[in-house]
Amino acid sequence: LQERACAIGVDLGGQSLKLATVDKNGVCHHARQVPVNSEYSADEMTDWLAKQITAQLAETRKHGWSIRGIGMVLPGYMNRQRTRILFAANLAGLNDTDLPEKLAARFELPMGFDADCNGAAMAEYRFGAGRGSQRLTVVTVGTGIGAGVIFDGKLVRNFGHAAGSLGHIIVDPQGQRCSCGGRGCLETKASGRALERLAEQAVSVQSSGMLARLKEEAGRLTGAEVNCALQQGDEVARQIVESIGWWLGAGLATWSAIYKPETIIIGGKVAELGSAYLQAIRRGLTDVGQPFLVNEITVASAALGTQAGVIGAASIFLAQNKA
Ligand SMILES: [Zn+2]
Repeated sequence: LQERACAIGVDLGGQSLKLATVDKNGVCHHARQVPVNSEYSADEMTDWLAKQITAQLAETRKHGWSIRGIGMVLPGYMNRQRTRILFAANLAGLNDTDLPEKLAARFELPMGFDADCNGAAMAEYRFGAGRGSQRLTVVTVGTGIGAGVIFDGKLVRNFGHAAGSLGHIIVDPQGQRCSCGGRGCLETKASGRALERLAEQAVSVQSSGMLARLKEEAGRLTGAEVNCALQQGDEVARQIVESIGWWLGAGLATWSAIYKPETIIIGGKVAELGSAYLQAIRRGLTDVGQPFLVNEITVASAALGTQAGVIGAASIFLAQNKA
């Protein structure tokens, strides 16, 4: 029975909820994904999450697993005890509510919570591309930019739950207002939203290129269209990827002056842009960073893809290997 031990991982995002039964090697079983109604109030969300988790528990028990606990990651800021959500930009109904505490009270199993960026960091550290790294930063680039930091096997929690807000490091003080209220945040230069903005700008200037054609087919431009153009050698797409990658590297040079990581892992939807994107990040990092701080850093792709969240959430209840 010992080897059938598992934990339930739950990853709540602004658009989808992912659930999985995760074994002690970090492998997902019975994984599923359902769309989230981001308009839900905290009470509606609590009821809905309880129902989804109960179904996952039933499915898991049916297959003979012994469940250690339920781990859940969510977006935004939590209090230090991780019993309250202070601010979640993409799930506004949950702002300033005790959803974690109320949801945990629905289950007899122990339940633990963390921020999504911390979950991804722990997953990559224990089971993915960050194994063996003593000073690790795991960056998640999607609509926004988040980061988790691990020092000597432990998550860094400077304020509330997180090491810091990488997406809101100021890289261009004269630049655009960020949705957070700051000016010139890294997210205005390097997030998935910035990529979409640059692509739309390129099309408005040059209405005959490959991106314009892709926009006509898809109705809008996202990372997927830019990636498609990039793979076909489109110069405009290459410049966009170079720009968002370079700026992320520049932001990481500042981050490195604080954390001096050995390894920086890049995950999230935007990381699907692949090696051209990683090289641009590396260029930004070494163009502006102090050589002593940045030259030795390994920049690598995340290994766990979109499962990092559920694996990291479950790992709250999976014992560390002694290795
Ligand atoms: Zn900001």
